[in-house]
Amino acid sequence: MNMFCYQCQETGNGKGCTALGMCGKTDETANLQDLLIYTLKGLAFYARFIFSSGKPFNLELKRKTGVIITESLFATITNTNFDPSRILSYTERALRHREALHKEYLKAVDAPSPVPGTGAANVIPESARWVYSSKKDLYQKSYTVGVLETRDPDLRSVKETITYALKGMSAYTYHAAVLGFYDDSIFDFIFDALFKIDTETQIEKLLPVVIKTGEYNLKALEVLDKANTAVYGMPSPVKVRTKPGTRPGILVTGHDLKDLEMLMHQSENQGIDVYTNGEMVLAQSLPFFRKFKHLAGNYGNAWWQQAEEFRSFNGPVLVTSNCIIPPDESYVKRMFTTSVAGFPGIPHIEEKNGTKDFSTLISLAKTLPPPAPLKDNEFMSGFGNKYLLSVKDKVIELVKDGKIKKFIVMGGCDGRETKRKYYKDKALTLPKDTVILTAGCAKYRFIKDISDTIEGIPRVLDAGQCSDNYSFLVFALELAKSLDIKDLNELPIEYDIAWYDQKAVAVLLTLVYLGIKKIKFGPTLPEFLTQYIIKNIKDKSDISTVYKE
Ligand code: SF4
Repeated sequence: MNMFCYQCQETGNGKGCTALGMCGKTDETANLQDLLIYTLKGLAFYARFIFSSGKPFNLELKRKTGVIITESLFATITNTNFDPSRILSYTERALRHREALHKEYLKAVDAPSPVPGTGAANVIPESARWVYSSKKDLYQKSYTVGVLETRDPDLRSVKETITYALKGMSAYTYHAAVLGFYDDSIFDFIFDALFKIDTETQIEKLLPVVIKTGEYNLKALEVLDKANTAVYGMPSPVKVRTKPGTRPGILVTGHDLKDLEMLMHQSENQGIDVYTNGEMVLAQSLPFFRKFKHLAGNYGNAWWQQAEEFRSFNGPVLVTSNCIIPPDESYVKRMFTTSVAGFPGIPHIEEKNGTKDFSTLISLAKTLPPPAPLKDNEFMSGFGNKYLLSVKDKVIELVKDGKIKKFIVMGGCDGRETKRKYYKDKALTLPKDTVILTAGCAKYRFIKDISDTIEGIPRVLDAGQCSDNYSFLVFALELAKSLDIKDLNELPIEYDIAWYDQKAVAVLLTLVYLGIKKIKFGPTLPEFLTQYIIKNIKDKSDISTVYKE
């Protein structure tokens, strides 16, 4: 059966992938992902009712539900999990959990104060009622749910915009939960938003949910920042090594710091090194990871260069989240996935009793040659909240003296398309009195080519992963406070966000929620975002593309 997916920037012909994803996602996986999302909507119906009914509830059950939903949504982000059997097992788990919640629902339905808007009778939506008896049923069902079920383009647009931002927010929420950090109101919001996109048919009623998604994504970013800094310490500026050593190595990509933590412990004193790749570079600036002598440096660039870079790395590669792309023969036998990442045929390291056993990777690494050097310059990273707030007064002085004229946030995700050359060209031709604030893998377009400073402040400040765009929002809010500015648009900060996957969509909505105008979101605007929705998500919101055909 045909698929339809248009959630990322590289969607087929700029319209939608219909036979095979440009990313390599098959129709089977795409349809099963649609079914998973549909199932989560049904789960959210019960969760919303039970945990908002006013009756006492079991917090552990609520968090378990929240983690099931956020982990599952995370798994459907572009380039995260291509394995249909894993997507199917997420759906089966959600359906089993739905049974458990249904029992709680039957107890709570007698509650004296039903959830506003649902009424005491609580008509149960189809997403929460459908049943199956075999895998074949699940496949059949997967052909009947999906994006195109919503016929009206603007209604579809508003629903999918919320869905994709929820996926991004779920990734951040799940990472924080893995480290034991929660804001339970985020789960309440996700339950409610999923219910509304499942059942609401009026665009006007969904538009406020778009803005709320941005608001709750800000909370999700804050919780993750708290989790990362509480567990691994405050990032501080560091020169990132890019020249590999002479010992064999393991390359870790993705975003999950907990996985890297476990691997660092298990691989210590084993005669091998561990390298970060992509957004895992954040670990290079965190005190916890810096204490390991065998954290050797960063190898490689953005996700789309992985085929060439994984090949020349020579050792095992561990993928902890997005991005994985279909691997070729030359390195597939030394690829491993863990957490939400998955690819058919690639061994997946499961968690058992709160830990993961990476001994297979470690043993394999010892038998393989060391990484071949890449032609890469060293670069600076680790400019998170702590650094930015420590230089805030100096920055204000430099701005007042006209020595810094502008900040430009050029964070987000990178991609394969040639039009993304824009970001490199732009960064390299910015006036010397402009400072670039970056995070995510978009930085690899320019970070190794700019090393000058303005009175000691580097002209490229990299905060780490895409979630660390949060540091720039904190910085903007603090600057505004110090300068007694009420409207963030009066600050000398521009936003030129590169997007590829759904985490960037969540960040976009947070900027819209904060009232930021004139956001550039490129290289091309999301196909799922109609002009009607852009114009109506917030008064005079102005989101434009950087790429003109
Ligand atoms: Fe196409 Fe992107 Fe969806 Fe992959 S994630 S199927 S490339 S729209």
